[in-house]
Amino acid sequence: MKADMGRKYRAYPTPEQDEILTRWGHHARALWNLALEHRMMVRRKHDGRSWVWSAEQCVLLTEIRNDPDESINWIRDLPASAAQQVLRQMDEAFKRIANPKLRARNPKFKRRNCGAHLTFPAQRLKVRKLNRHWASVRIPKLGWLRFRLSRALGGTVRSCTLSRNGLGWHVAFGVHTGAKSAPPNGKPGCGVDFGVHVSAWVSTETAPRLMPSSLTDGEQQRLRTLERRKARQLTYAKKQNGGTYSNRLRKTIAQIAALKARQARRRLDFTHKLTTDLAKNHGFVGIEDLRVLNMTKSAKGTVAAPGRGVGRKSGLNRAIYDHIPGERRRQLAYKAPMYGSQLRPVAPHGTSQTCPECGKRDPRSRVGCGREFACVHCGHTDHADKTASIEIEARARRMGDTVTKSTRSPARGARGRETVTRLRAAPATHVA
Ligand SMILES: [Zn+2]
Repeated sequence: MKADMGRKYRAYPTPEQDEILTRWGHHARALWNLALEHRMMVRRKHDGRSWVWSAEQCVLLTEIRNDPDESINWIRDLPASAAQQVLRQMDEAFKRIANPKLRARNPKFKRRNCGAHLTFPAQRLKVRKLNRHWASVRIPKLGWLRFRLSRALGGTVRSCTLSRNGLGWHVAFGVHTGAKSAPPNGKPGCGVDFGVHVSAWVSTETAPRLMPSSLTDGEQQRLRTLERRKARQLTYAKKQNGGTYSNRLRKTIAQIAALKARQARRRLDFTHKLTTDLAKNHGFVGIEDLRVLNMTKSAKGTVAAPGRGVGRKSGLNRAIYDHIPGERRRQLAYKAPMYGSQLRPVAPHGTSQTCPECGKRDPRSRVGCGREFACVHCGHTDHADKTASIEIEARARRMGDTVTKSTRSPARGARGRETVTRLRAAPATHVA
């Protein structure tokens, strides 16, 4: 029974629990670094031919925990189940590198400020409901930890991860709901153009969906002030304090983290509402199959050939990331089957240069870099993002037709079969 859904809640540890969890967070990070060093050492020793996995490292861990040496008390302090989970997570990190679809990079050593994460397997947990709004989970060696039950768990708990960001602790459960994908909802499909100027334009709508600014003007001003203060305090720490962080500097860092965490929550809130609405009310959702990593490459260039417009490009990259395109796609991929919809990622080439009236693609139809689309062939004019969303819908519709036709008569031609294979192989695509 595997977890098929995640549920995240705000946790409210007591001051003692907070202290213990913070300590464990650092222990888990230290263990990660130690285990990674060990794996790299073994690999170097055997000229890259041998590799250690968590099974062997868990045995080693038990040996170390039984060692009476006082200097490694910290390893004993961390619950065994959480420690083993750190090693298993490292296995997953290494497996991801081998997966060409994910383009994962090598696991890295974790810095002190990387945030605390502790995972516990279901066997060691117990969850109880206190009343309508509160519940608590029993964590080994910590006791009952209260959390705000903002929605029902809706399944069997398979794992639990405690994490901390700028706003405090959160508890996330991996839950097995056993939910089957819903039958097709029979609603008309749509194409969505995700952008920076216009957050999202749905082809069936006349106005764009705009993401409200993730920080208010006052908060942006405050963030700038805090960043400046942090820079000043860092300089002081380096020059006058031998690199030691003052309590005031720590406070500034915490204030920045809280502001950024709130910003992230607002972004996620908008994204969840947008993707749920798209999946719930459309038979299929066409999106552009974009490579965000390539789109957000820095313009920095090399020392020999420095790039141009570096600051402008990094501002654009920030704006792209502000709309979390990868997260939108991830959410659509799991929400579409839930609501009887389909996610159809289409080829993004020339979507904003194709005329929805006459169907001709011409770069000249986009004058300058504005948001205006003016067809040079038939004279049709509209907002560029809207025309793009209509073209995306058309491509998504054709994609659906290809699938239906080819699955009905697979022997019709190699080209049809190829499309189907490509669709099936495409990640995060639900083809009913
Ligand atoms: Zn035209």
